[in-house]
Amino acid sequence: AKAAGRGTYRQFEPEMGAQLQAHQQMKLALRRALDRRELELYYQPLVSLRSKKVSGCEALVRWRNPERGMVAPENFIPIAEETGLIVPIGEWVLKEACREAAAWPASVSIAVNLSPIQFRDKKLVKAVAAAIAASGIDPARLQLEITESVLLDESDHNLELLQELRNLGVKIAMDDFGTGYSSLGYLRSFPFDKIKVDRAFIRDLPSGKESLAILKAVAGLGHSLGITTTVEGVETEGQLETVNAEGFDEAQGYLFAQPLPASEITILIAAGLI
Ligand code: C2E
Ligand code: CA
Ligand code: CA
Ligand code: CA
Repeated sequence: AKAAGRGTYRQFEPEMGAQLQAHQQMKLALRRALDRRELELYYQPLVSLRSKKVSGCEALVRWRNPERGMVAPENFIPIAEETGLIVPIGEWVLKEACREAAAWPASVSIAVNLSPIQFRDKKLVKAVAAAIAASGIDPARLQLEITESVLLDESDHNLELLQELRNLGVKIAMDDFGTGYSSLGYLRSFPFDKIKVDRAFIRDLPSGKESLAILKAVAGLGHSLGITTTVEGVETEGQLETVNAEGFDEAQGYLFAQPLPASEITILIAAGLI
């Protein structure tokens, strides 16, 4: 602000200053969120299209702050990534998700999202192993969801880490498939266990011709590579019928259930209601 001169400083101060301050306050509040136990996990079921039963649940983090109310992940995950707080937050998510999954039937897997920033943490593999050990779950029930950006930067290093994670016995899923630049290419560099097609391709079903053609191709690809195929964002019966007809293995979306607190998801699973 000094070098920019007085005029520029004045222009900068009122709006940008306030925004920066809000951002700083958000960082501070997020820094305290873990200690203050303000983070919660919600779980959204994934349904097997063959058996119609719950095959797994995805853990989705929420931040319940006394002043801000319920903060959606899209509003704080980027700040957690920017500050590095995603590392302790991500470790907590892993521990908590595995702990809660231990109470579910062994046929129900637990999916946890991993940020690319977590791959810069030297202790990532240890943290995953520790979460599995502490909960006592079969490692094969844990599915780590990553986006292709993990392979985009420092790809060799991250590829090795993915292999180490896989050696723990966990499954690796490519999330938001189709939204990046090279989703297909990355299927060649790492043997993913699961493809989760982004909900952008589900939104305009059953009428969307382009989406349908792409989904057809992905289902075929999954089958020939032996990769489980999942769709997210299924909201209508028409969308479900379409992905079912294309031979997808699994679906997730508001049609089945929204993300729910652990207490509610446990009841739904036990009652066989979803
Ligand atoms: P995602 O991994 O793609 O998760 C799916 C998102 O779609 C969730 O939003 C979920 O609530 C939402 N969703 C599920 N079914 C439907 C549907 O039928 N229609 C629509 N319109 N949306 C649906 P959510 O919970 O707000 O999470 C947003 C993103 O935040 C996640 O996207 C993920 O990238 C990130 N995130 C959430 N929890 C974590 C976490 O623990 N760690 C990390 N690194 N990222 C997380
Ligand atoms: Ca996900
Ligand atoms: Ca996704
Ligand atoms: Ca997404």
